[in-house]
Amino acid sequence: DPRIARISSAIRVIPNFPKPGIMFQDITTLLLDTRAFRDTVDLFVERYRGKDISVVAGIEARGFIFGPPIALAIRAKFVPMRKPKKLPGEVISEEYSLEYGTDKMEMHVGAVQAGERVLVIDDLIATGGTLCAAIKLIERVGAHVVECACVIELPELKGRDRLAEKPLFVLVNAA
Ligand code: IMP
Repeated sequence: DPRIARISSAIRVIPNFPKPGIMFQDITTLLLDTRAFRDTVDLFVERYRGKDISVVAGIEARGFIFGPPIALAIRAKFVPMRKPKKLPGEVISEEYSLEYGTDKMEMHVGAVQAGERVLVIDDLIATGGTLCAAIKLIERVGAHVVECACVIELPELKGRDRLAEKPLFVLVNAA
C-alpha cells in the first residue's frame, strides 16, 4: 500500500530517549502530517469495518490518540485501558512486568461486556507485555479479542510471540 511509506517517514526516531541506547519512535510528527495521520486511521478502519467489533480498547497514552477516530468510524465504543489510579470507578487490574519492576493496567468494570468482540490498539509493540496485559483484562470479563493493532512493531523483540496466539496487525516495522 503506497500510504505505508508516507506513514513510515512521518515517524521521527529520537536516539537515547528516555534513556541511553533507546531509539524512541515518536508518533507526534505523524500527527503533524495531516495526510499521514488520516491514512493511518483509514488503514485501520478499512481493515476493521464490517468485522462486528463493538469495542475499541485503547492503551494509555498513545492508544488514546489512534483508538477514538477508529472507534467512531466503525461505530464501536471506545474503552480506555489506563495506568493505575486514573479511572474513578470500580476497576479490574492486571499486573505486568517491565524491564525493571512491574506496572499495572486498569479497566472500568462494566465497560466491556461478556461476549463482545474487541479490537485492542496501541501505538507500538516492543516486548508485548503491555498488549498481553490488555488481552488478559478483556478475556477476564468474558469478551473476545479479535485482533491487536499497532502503528509500529519492533520485530526484533518478538513481542508478537507473547500475545497468546492473538493476531497482531501493524503498519510499520522499525529496527
Ligand atoms: P511493550 O510492553 O514492551 O511491548 O512496550 C510497549 C509500550 O511501550 C507501548 O505502550 C508503547 O507506547 C511504549 N513504547 C515502548 N517503546 C516505545 C517507543 O519507541 N516509542 C513509543 N512508545 C514506546
